[in-house]
Amino acid sequence: MCGIVGYIGNVDAKEILLKGLEKLEYRGYDSAGIAVQTGNEISVFKEKGRIADLRAAVDSSVTANTGIGHTRWATHGVPSQENAHPHQSTSGRFTLVHNGVIENYDIIKREALQGVNFVSETDTEVIVQLIEKYVNEGQDVETAFRSMLKKLEGSYALALLDKENDETIFVAKNKSPLLVGLGEDFNVVASDAMAMLQVTDQYVELMDKEIVIVTKENVTIQTLNGETVERAPYTAEIDASDIEKGTYAHYMLKEIDEQPLVMRKIMQAYQNDAGTLTIDNDIVNAIDAADRLYIVACGTSYHAGLVGKQLIENMAKKPVEVHVASEFNYNMPLLSEKPLFIFISQSGETADSRACLVQVKEKGHKALTITNVAGSTLSREADYTLLLHAGPEIAVASTKAYTAQIAVLAILANVTAEKRGYNQSFDLAQELGIVANAIEALCDDKEEFEAIAREYLSTTRNAFFIGRAVDNYVGLEGALKLKEISYIQAEGFAGGELKHGTIALIEDGTPVIAIATQEKVNLSIRGNVKEVVARGANPCIISMKGLDTDEDRYVVPEVHPYFTPLVSVVPTQLIAYYAALHRDCDVDKPRNLAKSVTVE
Ligand code: GLU
Repeated sequence: MCGIVGYIGNVDAKEILLKGLEKLEYRGYDSAGIAVQTGNEISVFKEKGRIADLRAAVDSSVTANTGIGHTRWATHGVPSQENAHPHQSTSGRFTLVHNGVIENYDIIKREALQGVNFVSETDTEVIVQLIEKYVNEGQDVETAFRSMLKKLEGSYALALLDKENDETIFVAKNKSPLLVGLGEDFNVVASDAMAMLQVTDQYVELMDKEIVIVTKENVTIQTLNGETVERAPYTAEIDASDIEKGTYAHYMLKEIDEQPLVMRKIMQAYQNDAGTLTIDNDIVNAIDAADRLYIVACGTSYHAGLVGKQLIENMAKKPVEVHVASEFNYNMPLLSEKPLFIFISQSGETADSRACLVQVKEKGHKALTITNVAGSTLSREADYTLLLHAGPEIAVASTKAYTAQIAVLAILANVTAEKRGYNQSFDLAQELGIVANAIEALCDDKEEFEAIAREYLSTTRNAFFIGRAVDNYVGLEGALKLKEISYIQAEGFAGGELKHGTIALIEDGTPVIAIATQEKVNLSIRGNVKEVVARGANPCIISMKGLDTDEDRYVVPEVHPYFTPLVSVVPTQLIAYYAALHRDCDVDKPRNLAKSVTVE
């Protein structure tokens, strides 16, 4: 969600900062800004809207070798130029960018900053005013920075410029992601290595409540109490071509098309020398030792978790509960005696999930993170990690991470099943190979999905997805995808549930997309379709080969019944994509949404 960049070195910072912010665009934002410094001159440019608007507003005659930049995803105060970052202290001495939420900003305002004239509605502004206050009271800037951080409660990644010192960027983080990148005669700051891959692939991780003093020659990491921390850099292994769109109009379409490749990459990554799909023994033992698994996730990852529950319970006969992280955090269910927690997060930075992880670790329980990002916070803080190997997912609406999560959960289920003596009648590698081929066939059939989107969704206000058993979970994900990018009010329901209330919303022509891939419920889901058709609905049945009838609008290739979600979700992704396109929506950057949700 939103992002920060910073540069200190020998060349003009403007372009590096703007390019960096462009690379962070995928995370979602509503305004952007940069501040650049030469000597004791700091120029701030900020705009509501896109980086392109900011670019147009930046005075190209200003050159400076130091600067900070920000994309904002508003939490306190509307998206506007005044609320956009950077924010400055009253005298203009200090300039700050901040990601996160300062929970006690109101108390700080009342108790420490009476009489200060605030120009924005943000929580952020208290940070920069507080430093100024401490400096005015006689503290040197580093001490003031520290005193200020000790007052803050909440989450922050921040970078600060001081007008009277053009050789330093002051940096700190707590709960929000931030990295420092190393170069020859320059150093950088970034929320995500992708932003600064243009200048370096060497990065140093930062831990919560660390402070970093960044100059062009040095990066000094300290704890809040002033102890110096030594930490070796790592090489960010991101292929620059992975984060380019290539010939695609949108990242989302590229990422949908990458799914067969991702399936194959996952199989490669988890294969042992004998060609069997396997995972680290420690993880299998921990899962085996648990009496119940708790999957905790948000959004699309939560939907993948629901499918994961089905796989683990069916294959390994181990009970699984699936919880929405933001609820679990404040309303934890009664836990079993030996629980094990599985956190699913594409970015590994999801704040709601992280808050749960902190709680369960405090209780002394073991946790496994399934994520796309090695070294992310959730990965570092859990006992075990399983990586998705999906490559960077840039489009806000998740597609390939969802299928990757299910594939990794399938491997986990299979290995756990073997360990527990429940051998399956199929070979998982072979089944996932069949799945990869089926996804490929669907991706080759885009015109069909474009036609379906045009026929059912180009003018509708709402749409419903129905399914039974595991198809219900795919329906939930299909509805979420459609909502996210086309703004059609879409809801997913268990096939039998609609008639208990929501069927009242069915009108003449209301699209109802039914997923039918499960033999045991094939007749009953078709019965549910009849119910809505009797009330005027326009049905679109997506079934699987072998279970299909003449009334079906699309038939996906046959795969093992356990793994149908990996395949049946693809039509829903493509239908959502084309619906958004037909409605002129910004597919990769839907309104109000952020890619990695790093605030609670
Ligand atoms: N809470 C701050 C604001 O609303 C920062 C939001 C962000 O992370 O971009 O301005």
